[in-house]
Amino acid sequence: MELTCWGATCNVTGSMHLLVTAGRQVLLDCGLFQGSWNEAFERNRTLPFSVNDLHAVVLSHTHLDHCGNLPSLVKAGYTGPIYCTPATRDLTAIMLRDAAHIQEADAEYINLRHRKKNESPDAKPLYTQADAERVNRQLLAVPYGTWVALGNYTRFMFLDAGHILGSAIVLFQTEEGNGTRQFCFSGDLGRSRPRILREREFVEEMDYLLIESTYGDRLHDPVDQMQGELAEVITEAVNRSARVLIPAFAIGRTQELVYILHGLQQQGVIPDIPVFVDSPLAVDATEVYRVHAECYNDEMRRLIFNHEDPFGLKRLNYVREREASVAINQVKGPCIIIAGSGMCEGGRIRHHLTQSIEEAKNTILIVSYQAVNTLGRRLADRQSKVKIFGEEYKRRARVKILNGFSAHADSTELLEWVTAGTRKLKSH
Ligand SMILES: [Zn+2]
Repeated sequence: MELTCWGATCNVTGSMHLLVTAGRQVLLDCGLFQGSWNEAFERNRTLPFSVNDLHAVVLSHTHLDHCGNLPSLVKAGYTGPIYCTPATRDLTAIMLRDAAHIQEADAEYINLRHRKKNESPDAKPLYTQADAERVNRQLLAVPYGTWVALGNYTRFMFLDAGHILGSAIVLFQTEEGNGTRQFCFSGDLGRSRPRILREREFVEEMDYLLIESTYGDRLHDPVDQMQGELAEVITEAVNRSARVLIPAFAIGRTQELVYILHGLQQQGVIPDIPVFVDSPLAVDATEVYRVHAECYNDEMRRLIFNHEDPFGLKRLNYVREREASVAINQVKGPCIIIAGSGMCEGGRIRHHLTQSIEEAKNTILIVSYQAVNTLGRRLADRQSKVKIFGEEYKRRARVKILNGFSAHADSTELLEWVTAGTRKLKSH
């Protein structure tokens, strides 16, 4: 058994690992490396292995840093199966379509700037929507807990990782030499007692483990604490008749926020104020969330089987069209706007920020990780002036940060998973 890590080492993007076992070459994830345009383009376009030698791709989950470079792989000639769970298949289809659209739009924007400077317009998208559609035809859905044979000597199974809808731990079993060996790829691991998803599963026996460690060096606030803190932020905003702007990732964080707001309104903890989910991708992703009951914990299943809609609120508006997004500017009184992107580097949140950032009564609520050199990080750092679409804005709106929303296990939760689940981990 041989493993080569081609990404997500010493950084957190571009997860991609090549496993060679019993004569089979299996690619684990094919994530997008995210960085400056030129560096990212070159790194994502140039695959460091021979695509023709691959027998299979196994996908842990739908985040772009794990699945976002699949169109490049297919474009390079890979025609084989891409195994994933049913929910991951549905989410990946919409995620890659959106990613391709962004690639095309970015290339167009760069070319426009080149033309203005009388330079030749030579920027090309990393991949197109047609490439993304080809990936969708190669996705093969496998339910959790089902063995899949890769040749005569190797098989794998997905176990629930409790990270985002459809996320999986991948357990390989292979006949090698004089016995059977188990190799586990953790993918991204969720927290203990997640709010809506099933708890991550434990692996009781393995010989080799490849584990993520995004938050291997820190602790999150407890999951339970978040509800009260969110209620406090919203109640204060209502008292000031203010807007609450929440930059959020379209997949996972948005649905979780809506679910918590649903609970808070049901219990009468916060008043029924208008809530807008202003992101076409989030609207599509929520439709996928509605149909995958197999991924939920008991509480969520109870709601679903009682015909309650955990992703609906009395005054919730899912906004797909651009005109409807612009119309939110006319809303008087307090409201909550959830929009992408999560780090404010793209998406409609930037338009809402231009409308609300200079008013002191408004709140910008940060609920996710903000990478350095992003607008989201500058807001989280409470910088007094920020540039949006090249224009400078004075930040008078208050900034609140809630850290407990992470979908990644923290250091204690990672250790808990390793020790509780791998008591029989053998040392090699
Ligand atoms: Zn992830």
